[in-house]
Amino acid sequence: MSGLRCFTSTLVYDEIRHIKKSHSALDVLIESGNLVIMQPEVVSIATVKTAAKISGDFPMLSEADISILALAYELKRMLITNDYRIANVAPSLQVVVKTIAINGIKSIRQWIAICPACEKLYPPELTECKNCGNRLIYKYKTKPKA
Ligand SMILES: [Zn+2]
Repeated sequence: MSGLRCFTSTLVYDEIRHIKKSHSALDVLIESGNLVIMQPEVVSIATVKTAAKISGDFPMLSEADISILALAYELKRMLITNDYRIANVAPSLQVVVKTIAINGIKSIRQWIAICPACEKLYPPELTECKNCGNRLIYKYKTKPKA
């Protein structure tokens, strides 16, 4: 981990602390300076909220989701997430997203990618429709339409 600094927002950090019983790995990262807890600027949060409203993801994003997007936007950092709602908003903020599957998270949400133009379904790893080239949107597999 040397030389690799990670950033997370206060809200996300609180969320992690809440879920995890043992904080030792997290604390080691913080003490070594490899994990920095930051609060995004109010103006960054407002930018993210606007982008999320345009993409239609806003109603499904938590305050923690918005804060981590705002931080990535502000710091011009790559964002690591397994949340496709976050991944959906990121491109309009020029935030590069890397999606990962985290072991130990019990309920991984089932996501599916849908082409907004021809309504074809794709696995969520894809970003563009193979048929028409439109950017795919991501939805819960279990929820047909909101
Ligand atoms: Zn299409």
